[in-house]
Amino acid sequence: MGAIHRADVDYDVIVVGAGPAGAVAARTAAERSARVLLLEGRREIGRPVQCTGLLSVRGVELSGASPEVIVRGIRGAFVYGPDPDGKRLALEKDDVHAYVIDRDRFDLDLVERAVRAGVEVRLKSPAVGLERSEANRVQTLRVKTNGHEVRLRARVVVGADGPRSVVARAAGLPPPEKTIIGVQATIAYEPPREDYVEVWLSHAIAPNFFAWAVPAAPGTARVGLGTDDPKQAKALFDRWVARQFPDCEILGFQSGSIPIGPSSRTVTDGVLLVGDAAGQAKPTSGGGIYTGISCARIAGEVAAKAALSGDASERTLGEYERRWREAFEGELRLGLVAHRIYGRLRDPEIARLLEAASDPRIVQVLSEHGDIDYPGRVVRRVMESPALLAKLLQAAPRRMEIYLPLLQEHL
Ligand SMILES: Cc1cc2nc3c(=O)[nH]c(=O)nc-3n(C[C@H](O)[C@H](O)[C@H](O)COP(=O)(O)OP(=O)(O)OC[C@H]3O[C@@H](n4cnc5c(N)ncnc54)[C@H](O)[C@@H]3O)c2cc1C
Repeated sequence: MGAIHRADVDYDVIVVGAGPAGAVAARTAAERSARVLLLEGRREIGRPVQCTGLLSVRGVELSGASPEVIVRGIRGAFVYGPDPDGKRLALEKDDVHAYVIDRDRFDLDLVERAVRAGVEVRLKSPAVGLERSEANRVQTLRVKTNGHEVRLRARVVVGADGPRSVVARAAGLPPPEKTIIGVQATIAYEPPREDYVEVWLSHAIAPNFFAWAVPAAPGTARVGLGTDDPKQAKALFDRWVARQFPDCEILGFQSGSIPIGPSSRTVTDGVLLVGDAAGQAKPTSGGGIYTGISCARIAGEVAAKAALSGDASERTLGEYERRWREAFEGELRLGLVAHRIYGRLRDPEIARLLEAASDPRIVQVLSEHGDIDYPGRVVRRVMESPALLAKLLQAAPRRMEIYLPLLQEHL
């Protein structure tokens, strides 16, 4: 691939999608002196919201977002099993471990920071296609704007356009392994504790995923469930809300897709993918903001370096792929195994496992070492303790033992 001259392109880097991953990638590239355009298909940044807004303290700090986006702090979780009369597991940290944030304000704050770093932003401008020059030296993005199509040229295109990425498809990069549909509403609800989230583990409620209630503004909560059965998602949600929160006033609906499993390739000549477009959300919880912005910092740095050096070949951009996989692939793969194990458990088996997990020694390990950004850490702790592992294995069905080596492989 020959060198690209700056005059041959409109921008060094074009980032498609102004969610958290796109805003952070764009800002990082601009801070490294690249001319950056950030394109957003919607008319407003961050709206409609498609997220619960639970983000670790670490994630909020890494994003650089203003503390004004924080609604409240979270210290613990109540975990319920399939049996309505069963025990609930209470896990608690000494300090606030995560924040509930307002996602629309968070996204806007990150885009404003990108603008201050020199990024140009265009709203209502969805990318609809990508053409690549013969030697893949210049990327020409086709963008709809004001009812007509324009062509914008860049040395590097960053696809940060979510789980149904147009950039990924146009560049021939594979989609994430599977998607979960999340359906959520903000309701009037007084949670048992304002600094605890609630989680329900049951396939009858949320097939192959879970349901949640996260305290938001005083007297309200964001309650939702995820499932890999898109046709049933809304009906399951309506049934669960009617039973779990009878007579609660519904203040607003949100829904969206969550990618499960990292994409097998996230880089090609002149193009890289980041955030949900690259399948970087955690398969255990569906949380994708922390991993997305962490990988976006690498993406912005590598995209700027490649664009400014005039060599945006797959080989050069491969630095991004290597670095983000080194940081997160083990966690994401481990999460995928955990997601599969959970999918194969029947509800009575989940109930038995939760009963076993209420052993005070296990509760202590879960509370002390649980980390929403790195769920693998607590799995490692449990697996390193023969007594705790034996306790859980006793409660687990025999057929689950085949997964142990798979878990160990990714620890
Ligand atoms: C119901 C639900 C609850 C969730 N709760 C949490 C949570 O509590 N914590 C957490 O960490 N994660 C959560 N997630 C996941 C989280 O929302 C995502 O992982 C995160 O938003 C990914 O950021 P992103 O920037 O990669 O993509 P997105 O936030 O999806 O941003 C992509 C942007 O690209 C734009 N776009 C799409 N196509 C185009 C195009 N062709 N041209 C231009 N622009 C385009 C979109 O409009 C959007 O603004 C939740 C997801 C769902 C569905």
